[in-house]
Amino acid sequence: MQNIEVYNPASPEELVWSGTETALDQLPGLAEAAKKSQKEWEALTGRQRLDILTAFLDGIEARTSDLADCMVRELGKLRGEAIGEVGKSLVEARWMLGRCLEKSGKIMASARPGIRSMVIRRPRGVVLAITPWNFPILTPLRKITPALVFGNAILLKPSVDAPGTAMILQQVADQSLPKGLLTVIMGGADIASAAIRCPQVDVVTFTGSTQVGRKVMSAAAEGLKEVSLELGGKNPAIVHDAVNMEKTIDDIVRAAFANTGQRCTAISRVLVQQELREPFLNSLLARMKLLIPGPSSNDESTLGPLSTKAQYDKVCEFLKHINPEQTDILTGGSPVDLPGGGYFFEPTLVEVTDSKCEINFSEIFGPVLGVEFYEKVDDAISRANATEYGLTSSVFASDISVIRAFEEGIESGMLHINHGTFPDENMPFGGWKASGVGAPSVGEESEQFYTRVQAIYEGV
Ligand code: NAD
Repeated sequence: MQNIEVYNPASPEELVWSGTETALDQLPGLAEAAKKSQKEWEALTGRQRLDILTAFLDGIEARTSDLADCMVRELGKLRGEAIGEVGKSLVEARWMLGRCLEKSGKIMASARPGIRSMVIRRPRGVVLAITPWNFPILTPLRKITPALVFGNAILLKPSVDAPGTAMILQQVADQSLPKGLLTVIMGGADIASAAIRCPQVDVVTFTGSTQVGRKVMSAAAEGLKEVSLELGGKNPAIVHDAVNMEKTIDDIVRAAFANTGQRCTAISRVLVQQELREPFLNSLLARMKLLIPGPSSNDESTLGPLSTKAQYDKVCEFLKHINPEQTDILTGGSPVDLPGGGYFFEPTLVEVTDSKCEINFSEIFGPVLGVEFYEKVDDAISRANATEYGLTSSVFASDISVIRAFEEGIESGMLHINHGTFPDENMPFGGWKASGVGAPSVGEESEQFYTRVQAIYEGV
């Protein structure tokens, strides 16, 4: 059992959380308690589950300020972004609660006389959720809510870089949910791997890097456990015309730099039609000047720090070793030294002069945007597709033939026409290729992962 210590990324001397990992030998007991709780939970009516889960979400809402403070301290989020994350999580979760009283199967036409044929959806049992640090309330709640709505219990293994928000979720659960229904397990890869192999765990939902997702999938395969993987991205935007250039720039900047670029759905590459080069770059560089790196405590800050030392080192190293023969740094590219220290990095725009450059393939996960230029839209689409990822994408165009070509040609799970890559609470969320495996999260489709199908032939 190891200690976990978290330091404030905006002032790294400040210890903001300390605690211990869950001991490996505690796991079987916790998983067994989840199994027992799940059986009782499944037996409740949809209405009973709805009332209990409404109280759970109300409890989270009442802790909005605590949750936001925690995200500011542990991850350096700007407070407005942290409050926004709690709000969005609750909107999404409340939409899902509506499913408690909806259909849970269908009656089929009979193929034989005297037989009523039904397809029923049943809970999976115990769901293990493994989550990253970048949205420490949104991502867990995106898994907890559908799991519980559909009658499962859940074990949550959050990131060790954001333990505080998970502990608040546990406190709210202790006050509002039946014992054992939601249990937080603290720790890193060891405890996560052990939990995947727990016999009481029925399915595994994971959000994180593609690299770790591969390990999760192979560990789950040993036990023939189904997985849902939400993985990394290298999300392109294509800018084809300048009908509304100011809005386009604003949408791209928000989608690229919100949460300091640490969103799986962040736009990290822009492909711009060659003729628009000058107006596009002038507007983008002017708009990026409004991004002011600084701590949440400073009202002028519009760009928080990178959330962990590892992430800061990764971004610094990437820019230090970027190939000058394939790229041109148009602005930024360096860490920012502020009086209190902190993992701040300049908002950075890199022109890509050789599309085979590393920046077009690596998920940097920081305030770094690549820009390149194209002449033909087909070429832009094929360049946009030339990564292992396929999470989300945007096109800015008024010509319907360009929009159609994009809709039909782009290889990503989510497409945005004339706006940035921000998803809604009622739409499927998930990636193609190395960005996701299994049924999408969010919206109706999440039922596919959180339930299993039973075919019933009812004779008389
Ligand atoms: P990560 O993959 O390093 O860690 C994610 C989780 O996996 C953590 O809880 C970690 O403790 C756990 N883990 C680490 N090694 C493990 C192992 N061997 N077996 C099982 N679990 C293990 O990711 P991160 O750095 O926390 O988060 C950033 C990544 O998450 C980015 O790649 C980002 O794109 C991705 N992400 C994806 C989505 C999405 O919905 N597609 C959303 C948010 C973040």
